Amino acid sequence: MEGDIKMKVADNRFEEKYIERIKKFPNQILDEHEYAIQQGFSYFASDKYKDKFIGKPPKGVKKKMIRDAIAGKAPLLGVFSNMLGTIRGMIQNFKDAEEYVVELEKTGRIVDESSICSESVWQELQKYAWDKHNVLIGFTEVPREYIFKRKALLFKYAIVCIQEMKEEAINKAPLIEASYEALRVYNSLGKATNDMTRWLKENHGIKCMACSPMGGLVDTVPLAQKAGLGGVGHNGLLITPQFGPRQRISVIFVNRPIFDFTDSKEHLWINEFCKNCRTCERKCEANAIYTNKIKNDTTGFVTSIDREKCYPYFSKTGGCGVCIKVCPFSKGNSSYEKIKDRYFSKEKKYIN
Ligand code: SF4
Ligand code: SF4
Repeated sequence: MEGDIKMKVADNRFEEKYIERIKKFPNQILDEHEYAIQQGFSYFASDKYKDKFIGKPPKGVKKKMIRDAIAGKAPLLGVFSNMLGTIRGMIQNFKDAEEYVVELEKTGRIVDESSICSESVWQELQKYAWDKHNVLIGFTEVPREYIFKRKALLFKYAIVCIQEMKEEAINKAPLIEASYEALRVYNSLGKATNDMTRWLKENHGIKCMACSPMGGLVDTVPLAQKAGLGGVGHNGLLITPQFGPRQRISVIFVNRPIFDFTDSKEHLWINEFCKNCRTCERKCEANAIYTNKIKNDTTGFVTSIDREKCYPYFSKTGGCGVCIKVCPFSKGNSSYEKIKDRYFSKEKKYIN
């Protein structure tokens, strides 16, 4: 499988070049773990999947998109502009990081004299992220184990960012309309992440690098859980108090531990809750969600999702999303609190 991997849209040549260059400085970067596995979009960019890759929707889906556009049901131009915007944003990530790579190549290290930020800068950033972009953030250190195979990071701290996908659109899953929403948020969160990165650089001189929600350097789901933003559900998705499983995740990598970590285990009860729910498992048309988790790497992070079973259905429908739609945490933005209250009630029971 490894030899088959061909970098396509999601792992553009800018990323390839960036990885190749920084890997020449193993003592200055955070490199992949020796047991790292191929995940993210690179996995589906292999020869095995090349005709079904997300940047190239299957024929039936393409026809449906065009039919919807003609019938005025889908913003075809919007879909393409979101695709282009997402790709443009990803490329920008690596162009913006060029100054650090050049510094590393010239001097053998990256000098960073930025000081630890006060709590007020964190609050300022939180406010900027929410007021301007409807983005929520957390801050943590990246465990090496979360870096994907053949990837590496220049900076080992992470501002993890989440942005909501609207319930009304996700409720249409597995129709393509739900995927239009995912695509909209990939673009919108990508732009927000690039803008917040610029804000940190320009206002506080912080050395940092944006990573698109479609970027494939690290596994953002357990990273967001570590940063205290939510818990990982049986559907393999981050579940947060604000949006349930309806969000995309991006990262801004930072050179120094400039903020207090927001790490928390307060959402880990979701894991126990899922044991008595399993709605996503029952509703998955592809039977891709197993009752028992599969441990296939060294991260200590296990999953119930069989990607080999998920992907054909995901591809056929142009993005599926049923396991997001049916999750009880997806029903309105106060569902997390309601479910939590019931779960921790005296009876410790939840009626779905
Ligand atoms: S995306 Fe669809 S096919 Fe894949 S696990 Fe979720 S419900 Fe199943
Ligand atoms: S549908 Fe149920 S089991 Fe699946 S992630 Fe949501 S709460 Fe957990």
